[in-house]
Amino acid sequence: MDLLIRGGTVVTVGNRAQVDVGIHNGLVVQMGGTMSADREIDATGHFVTPGGVDPHVHLTPPTRRADGWKWSDDFESGTRAALAGGITTVGNMSFPERDETMADAIVRDDAEAKKLSLADYFFHPVLMYPSKENLATIAPLHSQGHTSIKFFLSFRSFDRHVPEFLEAMRIVKQAGGIALIHCEDAAIIDCCCNLLREAGKTEPRYFPETRPVQAESVSTYRAVGYCETTGCPCYVVHLASARALAACHDGRSRGLPVYVETRPLYLHLTRQRFADEDGAKYAGAPPLREQSDVDAMWAALAFGNIDILATDHAPWKLAEKLDPTLDAANLRQGVADLETSLPMLYSTGVLGGRISLEQFVAVTSTNSAKLFGLYPKKGSISVGGDADMVVWDAQETRTIDGASMHSRSDYSPYDGFEVTGWPKFTVSRGEVVAERNEVVGKPGRGQLVRRGPHRAL
Ligand SMILES: [Zn+2]
Repeated sequence: MDLLIRGGTVVTVGNRAQVDVGIHNGLVVQMGGTMSADREIDATGHFVTPGGVDPHVHLTPPTRRADGWKWSDDFESGTRAALAGGITTVGNMSFPERDETMADAIVRDDAEAKKLSLADYFFHPVLMYPSKENLATIAPLHSQGHTSIKFFLSFRSFDRHVPEFLEAMRIVKQAGGIALIHCEDAAIIDCCCNLLREAGKTEPRYFPETRPVQAESVSTYRAVGYCETTGCPCYVVHLASARALAACHDGRSRGLPVYVETRPLYLHLTRQRFADEDGAKYAGAPPLREQSDVDAMWAALAFGNIDILATDHAPWKLAEKLDPTLDAANLRQGVADLETSLPMLYSTGVLGGRISLEQFVAVTSTNSAKLFGLYPKKGSISVGGDADMVVWDAQETRTIDGASMHSRSDYSPYDGFEVTGWPKFTVSRGEVVAERNEVVGKPGRGQLVRRGPHRAL
């Protein structure tokens, strides 16, 4: 063996047992029994879970926007944060430029990731312009292992092209993929922004009112209807409200392949934060909601009505978030979360008694690997699978300080939170890539993972 994880308690979705894990050539080759290895990690007294599979990150910005905006992280700093936080595989949103097809965007982003990424990665082609040419690339991209598309109901262009987007969903269904859908209604958002502007309510603290719950719930119901009509599996990204959850529940209770993602912001913070002087730093779409929505997210995570916790990692510098030229209608959206997501879920969720450790594994790794065609290579600890795993120190307590963490964002929306439970070792394809806070993996070691078809949960 190259590496032996000895004495740990291995936790998967269905099982929990103290078992030694033997690793050779990047794969798990033996579980239990007599083994020796070049390197041993003593995991006695520690949990060992599958490496996180975060299917929703932004590590490649659109490259030629006139306003020059850019998220703070690229594949290098972003995946460094991921490995420090126990995430070993990331799914990046690949945005084509106006003159590019989705296939062009994947080639461009892959060239960058190949050089920079420390973690394994895959791509979701973003369908911005549903031209004939673009629709024609969906099936070939699926054959090449990019078995999903993403689109946004929050962009004005969506409502001008609904028939083409439904056509895209039929193609995805046919090809065995899944559609990721950003569910917020563009017209409602525009109307709210106009009403607020007319009332003189343009400061950042009005941000939640620019994108209210009805914008999310109406749009989520549409996605469920599109799923029902086309048969295309639908994955609702970053769901934030109890009412939008009810829309998904409506579809799921009738057996529709509707899947739900939430993100850490909606578990740990409420819209109360927008009353703060620096409330703009919490802006993301949808906005932070009420405590009752937070409670609904936790209950749904615990009982499987939410399938996946993903970060939607889209970081900015604090000064960019608090830019005084911005108003409620155009705040910069997104935060850094790749390093904090799993530890905070462990701390507040598992130690806080809200979810089981097995459910922690399901929502951070296994469900994502299944839905996005990576299972059982990723998302499990099993013989023949990639040796991606995290040895946890469930006792270690740290105070969040975004400025000193691995993302190039210089703050965290959770600065000052006390979090117990951090990765002690992160292992990716058999290589120890992070030890406690120190990331030792090198840029360029990450590999593109070509995916199989979507798999129902
Ligand atoms: Zn996103």
